[in-house]
Amino acid sequence: MTVYALGDRVETKKPHPCGGKTWEVVRTGADYKIKCLTCGRVVMLTPDELQKRVRRTVSGEGT
Ligand SMILES: [Zn+2]
Repeated sequence: MTVYALGDRVETKKPHPCGGKTWEVVRTGADYKIKCLTCGRVVMLTPDELQKRVRRTVSGEGT
């Protein structure tokens, strides 16, 4: 199971109604909170739900 850290940026399989697909993890623990980087909306998810929604992590790449 993938572990997400605070500040990680993730791309969801389905876009948010605002059209954004990139989110930032703003809270970790028993529940996760992710913030839409397009509209700023914060959504709370269980780790299981987050796992299902995320297509890939977009941060931490680059080199
Ligand atoms: Zn949004």
